[in-house]
Amino acid sequence: MEYPRFAARPVGKVIHSIYRDRLETFIQPGQYEKQNLLSSLYKSRVGEPVLKLSVWSAPDLSRPTFAEAISQSFKPTGTGASFGPGWSTHWFRLEICLPPTLQGEQDLELHWEASCEGMVWTEAGHPLQGLSGDGERIEWRLPASVQDGAAHIFYLEMACNGMFGLGKGARNQPPDPDRYFTLQTAEIVAVNREARALLFDFTTIADAARQFPQQSWEAHKALQVGNAIIEAFTAGAGSDAAIQDARAIAREFLGDKIDSEDVYDAEEAEEQLVYAIGHCHIDTCWLWPWEETKRKVARSWSNQCDLMDRYPEHRFTASSAQQFKWLKEYYPSVYARVMDKIRLGSFQPIGGSWVEHDTNMPSGESLVRQFLHGQRFFEQEFGRRSTTFWLPDTFGYTAQLPQLCRLAGMSRFITQKLSWNNINNFPHTTFNWVALDGSQVLCHMPPSETYNAEAQLAELVNSVDQHKSLDQDPSSVLIFGKGDGGGGPTFQQIESLRRLRGLGERTSLIPRVHHGRSVDHFFEQLEGKAAAGKTEFVTWYGELYFELHRGTYTTQAATKWNNRKAEIFMHDLEYVAALASVKQAQYSYPKAQIDSLWEDLLLCQFHDCLPGSCIRMCYDDSDKLYSQLFATGQHLMDTALGVLGIRTSETSSPATRALNTLPWPRRELVKVAEEYALISSDGLGIASIQRPASPSVTVAEVRPGVFELANERYKLEIENGAIISLLDVKINRQVLAKGGKANQFVIFDDKPLYRQAWDVEVYHLTSRKELPGGVSAIAEQGPYRASIVTKTVISERSWLVSTISLSAAIDDESPCIQIDTEVEWREDMKFLKVEFDVAVTNTEASYDTQYGVVKRPTHYNTQWDMAKFEVCCHKWADLSENGYGVSVLNDSKYGFATCGHLMRLSLLRSPKAPDACADMGRHHVRYAIFPHQGPLDSRTVRAGYNFNNPMRLVTATESHMLNDITITGNPSLVLDTIKRGEDDEDVSLGGIAARKGQSLILRVFESLGGQASGIIKTSLPVVDVWKCNILEDDEEKLEFRTGEINIALRAFEVATFRLQL
Ligand SMILES: [Zn+2]
Repeated sequence: MEYPRFAARPVGKVIHSIYRDRLETFIQPGQYEKQNLLSSLYKSRVGEPVLKLSVWSAPDLSRPTFAEAISQSFKPTGTGASFGPGWSTHWFRLEICLPPTLQGEQDLELHWEASCEGMVWTEAGHPLQGLSGDGERIEWRLPASVQDGAAHIFYLEMACNGMFGLGKGARNQPPDPDRYFTLQTAEIVAVNREARALLFDFTTIADAARQFPQQSWEAHKALQVGNAIIEAFTAGAGSDAAIQDARAIAREFLGDKIDSEDVYDAEEAEEQLVYAIGHCHIDTCWLWPWEETKRKVARSWSNQCDLMDRYPEHRFTASSAQQFKWLKEYYPSVYARVMDKIRLGSFQPIGGSWVEHDTNMPSGESLVRQFLHGQRFFEQEFGRRSTTFWLPDTFGYTAQLPQLCRLAGMSRFITQKLSWNNINNFPHTTFNWVALDGSQVLCHMPPSETYNAEAQLAELVNSVDQHKSLDQDPSSVLIFGKGDGGGGPTFQQIESLRRLRGLGERTSLIPRVHHGRSVDHFFEQLEGKAAAGKTEFVTWYGELYFELHRGTYTTQAATKWNNRKAEIFMHDLEYVAALASVKQAQYSYPKAQIDSLWEDLLLCQFHDCLPGSCIRMCYDDSDKLYSQLFATGQHLMDTALGVLGIRTSETSSPATRALNTLPWPRRELVKVAEEYALISSDGLGIASIQRPASPSVTVAEVRPGVFELANERYKLEIENGAIISLLDVKINRQVLAKGGKANQFVIFDDKPLYRQAWDVEVYHLTSRKELPGGVSAIAEQGPYRASIVTKTVISERSWLVSTISLSAAIDDESPCIQIDTEVEWREDMKFLKVEFDVAVTNTEASYDTQYGVVKRPTHYNTQWDMAKFEVCCHKWADLSENGYGVSVLNDSKYGFATCGHLMRLSLLRSPKAPDACADMGRHHVRYAIFPHQGPLDSRTVRAGYNFNNPMRLVTATESHMLNDITITGNPSLVLDTIKRGEDDEDVSLGGIAARKGQSLILRVFESLGGQASGIIKTSLPVVDVWKCNILEDDEEKLEFRTGEINIALRAFEVATFRLQL
């Protein structure tokens, strides 16, 4: 046929911007909603009398059980009614009786919108599905049973809080307890299934038209298809036939398999790029308390079980043993449903830790217990441990995590928080992360940079565009689902993924996404590729420092204090109880109670709790838990000591001794009933007390207002509360920088860009103001200890009193210079710190971290260096040069900075959100200056422990009841934990196979970064010795002869030994 010779009519170019914008008008509410696709989504919507509502409101913000609630009397209610106040609970009785017009409808839903969370229950008391409010998840699919037209009863439990709590005005603000929620929508809706499917089709197509590169054929095609769909729909006036025509057009672009899981069939032969995994990040507490989290878990996970019934490909992964345990205890029928899905492989437990914890501040042993308790729960309940450590949302990652993961049976790690860095862009997506000891885990940070993906086209584009390890492997994980109160993935997201996969078969502009596998599959293919030599992943050594949320090392000081004290308490309790149980047959080890105390402590290490980013309610809860821990723990401690003939006692008697729970000799002056005494300890166990010999500390006012404290090692001058001179007498060295001071309090204006409790921004440093101290005075006169006290006024509302003390030198060695500061803190958005300006030169400072030392720059050469302007330390920070150094010790602080030769311990912040009264009130802070000749070595490591573990006074009838274990050899070896074997037959709580006999677990680590060997000696009747992992699996049998075990550790190794008795 000849090409037409004459133009039939004018034809214009497609004006892209106009045709693109038109796509929006087809699916948006507003002026066209009664004409566009939205008008066809539902065949009918009915309220009363088809749906009859009555309500009972629970009193006093209580959260009653189902049984309690339904036994109450319900009053009629309906839409327009208002419910509150914030945190209150209201139970609705829903009576559904379908009219003949709706009977037989396949797709019936309850639509419920009250802008708050809710849960639908059966009449028999089984939770069915959660609701989120504010349009996030408002539909519940009615069961087929209602179609008979009889009256059916359901219950709906309404929680008067939004997905993100009750923040007044904005999400991270303190809660508004006066908030009320109006029931806006309560309807039975018949869904037009094909119209809804067209909405999913069209959304993906419109996204492609907008987001694909505008010069690509795919963007042009999407624009044509989208507009053709609108034309077809309009031509048929939105009829069912028109919708069918429109869907046929959509399938030209998306393929014809998008209505089922078959869309994923094609992938087997080809390389898989994006593994979509459903997830629901549920913060264990944050803008709501634990009690609400228990309900959020039940709501969210029941949603997912329901989706698995409807979408065979759906896979959902959930972490945190604690959340599973709560579900098992409070929602057994949901737990049973979850267990069914776990058996089928669709619900995938992951993570291997007790909660998704902070990793900066918990001690090494706490991190071990997060894994031990987490993995044991997984093993017991699900029959297998997790191979992947899952921690998408925490505020930085300590350097030893890879080693601990490997020791807990996990070689893989998924996280993503570093994408929030606000200074430097972390350079890798998939890489080997290497611990201080050289252990590695394969780490993946999803390039979509979220753990709450919406399963939309842009995230798939980002999965390639933002992938930083394409040279090694282009695949990635997409973690999708609405977090917290959002209940996880929605059916809309699962439908969207099907369409994105359909589209991915036709274009290379988005990677092919697969839904239906697991995180394990993802890592298996990476490991397989590496094993076959097809790729080699790059490495990152040391901590993954998070360049944001630096305020979390300091916010909520009382919680940090409790955490440190509780960790130390648990250390002492386990040591005493373990030895008592192997030495005294009549004493049985209180395993259940000790486990429960640990679980409470681990819970409080959740990544918003310990970091200080929760609302007040959460800290009321955790304060209660800590005080129970100390009370129950003390009772257990007294009992265990009692069976060994030891009693805690503060009074002086001939039987007064001290208990040293640390494995090295200590000689310390202590006050016993107003008199100074010298404790002499050879190591672990009971120590004797003597009268101290030659007292030798003096104090005097040497110039007006200037006081001198002196012993054989140090001479200090103090003026207005600051140390203005610190002389190391033996070598005649001035420890302070020229003109510098120590114990100088400074205050900063502290207004970060957005998240007050979390962040302290670099610009706060320029607001530094020295707080002038008042006139100093002598507080204690010697001869064994002398102190100078000074009051400093911070403001009209706040003050501090700081006492600097020096004790007599013992054996020529001086204890550290101890400072006790009491602060009355009533500030708004201010940051209090204390400075030590020392005459030491080094471009790196060292910080105590879990099982080792981490070094960070003291300068701002590069942006990476500068970003570390505030860092996390544990018991000490140290600045040393050749031949000399200064350590600053603390007993409950975690924030530190070393800027040049200025060392600065962070004391208190005063953010007003999300807890409006964070840190207001009285605080007692202890810290100390520990100068040392020579390099940083075991003296600082031990001083840090000693400062945190004061010896406790006891009366003991026999003096050797706890002195059964010693460790000698390289002083960098620290025997950090003594506990009972988890599965010993006299200790086991069942669930995991018990082991014959009794055993002791000894955890030893190399603390300074070098090979070290030593000998563990014990008088206990040991039969066999095994080196094991932190889950206490035997790995290597060691020789045990004449009560001795020879051990050799590599640099920064954490080694666990099991002594079979
Ligand atoms: Zn979180």
